[in-house]
Amino acid sequence: MSQLHQHIQSEVTIIGGGIVGCCTALELRKRNFIVTIVEKGYLNGGASCNNAGGLYFQLQNQAGNFNESQQRELKKSLGLILNSRKSWVELNEYLNNKDGFNLNGGFIVAFNDEQAASLKKKHKLEMEWGINTELVTREEILKLMPYVSPHITGGSYHSGEGFADPEIIGKKLKEKLL
Ligand SMILES: Cc1cc2nc3c(=O)[nH]c(=O)nc-3n(C[C@H](O)[C@H](O)[C@H](O)COP(=O)(O)OP(=O)(O)OC[C@H]3O[C@@H](n4cnc5c(N)ncnc54)[C@H](O)[C@@H]3O)c2cc1C
Repeated sequence: MSQLHQHIQSEVTIIGGGIVGCCTALELRKRNFIVTIVEKGYLNGGASCNNAGGLYFQLQNQAGNFNESQQRELKKSLGLILNSRKSWVELNEYLNNKDGFNLNGGFIVAFNDEQAASLKKKHKLEMEWGINTELVTREEILKLMPYVSPHITGGSYHSGEGFADPEIIGKKLKEKLL
């Protein structure tokens, strides 16, 4: 690192150029900081480019079965959960991206009564915490998505969830940063 400092003038150095490092760099640059990203491989070459691209804003499936202490821990992230959709919309607009991005809604499905009961408790918690999900029947899901497994028993739905193509977002982030 001391050798790097001889060559690079930087006010902030970020180690790792995944989506977290790249977005942190963008935010700092908007605030006029001189930023350097140190990446051992490729920008956006790690998990950020190799994931399913799901933009999930519901609580995790198991949250319905959390005990009070686990719920307290999870609640510490509530601000992030509630703001993450807005952050994705803002990022996509900032990148001027029209491709591979939608927020048309998403489901978590249950395959048995136990999972359905957990989703029901998760939904109750979400209602208390201001996360807008709906419980939906197997028939409602299959009507909208006939290709889903017929073995599902029901699910929970969030109308604002969606998809961001990790490759496209990564490419646009690189273009903004380089
Ligand atoms: C299989 C899979 C599926 C996923 N699906 C989803 C999904 O559907 N929706 C979702 O929101 N999230 C999903 N995720 C999670 C998401 O991909 C990660 O939360 C996110 O990419 C983390 O970003 P990051 O920048 O912290 O990490 P990374 O993208 O891994 O970036 C870290 C970077 O740091 C670099 N690095 C590490 N150590 C050093 C070092 N010492 N010096 C220099 N550089 C270093 C690495 O090379 C890498 O480029 C999934 C993850 C996986 C693995």
